[in-house]
Amino acid sequence: MTTDVMTRPAVLILLGPPGAGKGTQARVLEENFGLVQLSTGDLLRAAVAAGTEAGKAAKAVMEAGGLVSDEIVINILRDRLAEPDCAKGVILDGFPRTTVQAEALDGLLAENGQKINAAISLEVDDAAMVTRISGRYTCAGCGEGYHDSFKQPAVDGKCDKCGGEKMTRRADDNAETVASRLEAYHEQTAPLIAYYDGKGALKKIDAMGDIAAISGGLAKIVTDVTS
Ligand code: AMP
Repeated sequence: MTTDVMTRPAVLILLGPPGAGKGTQARVLEENFGLVQLSTGDLLRAAVAAGTEAGKAAKAVMEAGGLVSDEIVINILRDRLAEPDCAKGVILDGFPRTTVQAEALDGLLAENGQKINAAISLEVDDAAMVTRISGRYTCAGCGEGYHDSFKQPAVDGKCDKCGGEKMTRRADDNAETVASRLEAYHEQTAPLIAYYDGKGALKKIDAMGDIAAISGGLAKIVTDVTS
């Protein structure tokens, strides 16, 4: 008996360097397609804040802009994927970041008869990433992302989505750490573009333009690969 792919929950990966817009676009896809955004960065920041063993081990590495060990990240992702809401389909933002993680993901999905629908590479110029990252901030209440130059709330300091008035900036969003994060991306994550291309699962999108235009292009890709 063959399983109808239409009935399988979608699994999409957003690839791209820090600042490419993975988190912003994942939130749009979450809203428009009913998918669940899984950000290993968010999961790790929550683990650091909660003071778990994984969080304690990850903290210094994250502050330095390096990659947390595959073992820690894979365990965190495995646990999150097992939660019931992920049955709606997921959009992975910031995972996988190494070939070991990509292979682990293939294995985890295979256990449930699943595989990824697509890995979508957000194509950007590195030079613009430092400006993008250093201007960004987030609503502490709902996680909506903003930017000093590219996406300001309608009322200064007040979240458009939830009305919250507490905005936060990430500790690792500074020029020095961003340089390390970009280096980690090119050395360890960029090879995944070839990995997914080899599996026929790679899609690319120019992610240098306007946020809404990129969302529109992504929506077409997602519709295409999930129908
Ligand atoms: P992000 O929020 O995706 O920019 O991730 C913030 C930081 O968390 C990264 O700079 C890494 O230190 C760590 N991190 C997030 N996801 C991963 C991952 N898949 N593998 C290793 N480290 C990760």
